[in-house]
Amino acid sequence: MTEAKKAIVIGAGFGGLALAIRLQAAGVQTTLLEKRDKPGGRAYVYQDQGFTFDAGPTVITDPTAIEELFTAAGRTMADYVELLPVAPFYQLRWEDGSSFDYANDQAALDRQIAQFNSRDVAGYQRFLAYSKAVFREGYLKLGSVPFLSFRDMLAAGPQLARLQAWRSVYAKVSAFIEDDKLRQAFSFHSLLVGGNPFATSSIYTLIHALEREWGVWFPRGGTGALVNALVRLFEDIGGRIELNADVARIDTVGNRATGVHLADGRQFAADCVASNADVVHTYATLLGGHARGEKESARLKRKRFSNSLFVIHFGLKRPQPQLQHHTVCFGPRYQALIQDIFNGQALAEDFSLYLHAPCVTDPSLAPPGCSSHYVLSPVPHLGNAPIDWTIEGPRYRDRIFDYLEKHYMPGLREDLVTCRIFTPADFESELNAHLGSAFSLEPILTQSAWFRPHNRDAALGNVYLVGAGTHPGAGVPGVVGSAKATAGLMLEDLHP
Ligand SMILES: Cc1cc2nc3c(=O)[nH]c(=O)nc-3n(C[C@H](O)[C@H](O)[C@H](O)COP(=O)(O)OP(=O)(O)OC[C@H]3O[C@@H](n4cnc5c(N)ncnc54)[C@H](O)[C@@H]3O)c2cc1C
Repeated sequence: MTEAKKAIVIGAGFGGLALAIRLQAAGVQTTLLEKRDKPGGRAYVYQDQGFTFDAGPTVITDPTAIEELFTAAGRTMADYVELLPVAPFYQLRWEDGSSFDYANDQAALDRQIAQFNSRDVAGYQRFLAYSKAVFREGYLKLGSVPFLSFRDMLAAGPQLARLQAWRSVYAKVSAFIEDDKLRQAFSFHSLLVGGNPFATSSIYTLIHALEREWGVWFPRGGTGALVNALVRLFEDIGGRIELNADVARIDTVGNRATGVHLADGRQFAADCVASNADVVHTYATLLGGHARGEKESARLKRKRFSNSLFVIHFGLKRPQPQLQHHTVCFGPRYQALIQDIFNGQALAEDFSLYLHAPCVTDPSLAPPGCSSHYVLSPVPHLGNAPIDWTIEGPRYRDRIFDYLEKHYMPGLREDLVTCRIFTPADFESELNAHLGSAFSLEPILTQSAWFRPHNRDAALGNVYLVGAGTHPGAGVPGVVGSAKATAGLMLEDLHP
């Protein structure tokens, strides 16, 4: 009997976990090495005084992609985690008191759209049809296949041209919808994956159809419960995960990886290595000793990176019945603020926020009678705005709390039990994120598909990438799709 092939996956984000499960399920002996003390990556979990805080993703879409991982491993998702439906998907609110409940209920949507602008009811139908067409081409067909050669890109060209992929999300939405607030309501989605609606390809309007198709979900126990379910699944089928395992370098002989070395000196040998870590970190540091690493990292550093985020996790001694689970709080400016976030060199005076109130769906995330929350503000990355966050962080937190108290959560600070912040500097130091970007390379057309770092390195034949920095890109469905593309290549290469 031949010995099982060995793979190493660096990083236990959603992409790394999904890849490790697929490899292990296919009989490859897989070791997952995670630098931090807990798995999840951006989906890390903080716990304090009975409050549970998901650090990152909270809007879980495309449950079928996650279920596929359990099926591939011969297990049933329901035995590991329960997904609860979220309704409305989001509540969108503006400073003048107007709001829009974005729900999967056509009659309710039409009624609300008509209140903003009656002509937009028909416009929305045309937008939905467009979004569905993009979803079929961009997600169902191309979302989990690797783009390794320019031929693959050319093959997709006619569809992309037909769908006018060169136009921005906002331009496309505006072609269907007239009302200013509704244009915001149907274009902000690309921000969830680090895309500027005014610059990102209209392909990202597919998120709208994806949510309408499969809904918005929240795992019972929080997103952390889903991460734990994936870890348990991986271990149940024989995978090995090492936490506090900071990989210092990928070992190479010629143009082949032979394993990895950890910062603490431990060494792991493998037939192939996949990195779920930041792509610049992977090439500049992990492959820094190889000419390929030097060259590729220099090339990547010239690319455009997505914005960063400033996040406050806080627990309150009272529930907040006036809030829905997900609230998007639009500020006074939309386009100009987004321009400041993606290209500005300082923090803007105003902000648009995302406010998380998970106890609306699952009260177990806080002690009885209390509520746990996070609020995030998109901010420029450290390359654009080299802010000293040790000084600015507490100030910015106070400004956001002032704003929340005024508009959404009166008396917030009187009820505060616990509070912590996560800044762009933490994205850089904790997650090795280049420039502290929250979503890796910006998803513009010239940095997507074949133009994004490939799922398999072009020079080092047994080094692979998985996660937000490779195809198709950021967001939980994106990185789980990238794992499918990368696993396909690895399995082909290991078992030709
Ligand atoms: C605050 C926030 C909210 C978000 N909300 C949503 C949402 O609601 N819905 C959605 O779909 N998406 C959301 N996203 C985006 C989504 O979370 C990410 O795109 C996705 O989780 C990234 O997964 P990944 O596989 O790329 O890995 P990451 O989560 O980036 O994990 C990479 C892992 O690699 C580890 N690592 C790095 N270097 C090393 C090393 N040298 N050795 C060992 N390990 C290393 C890191 O510690 C980390 O655990 C959000 C992101 C953020 C930050």
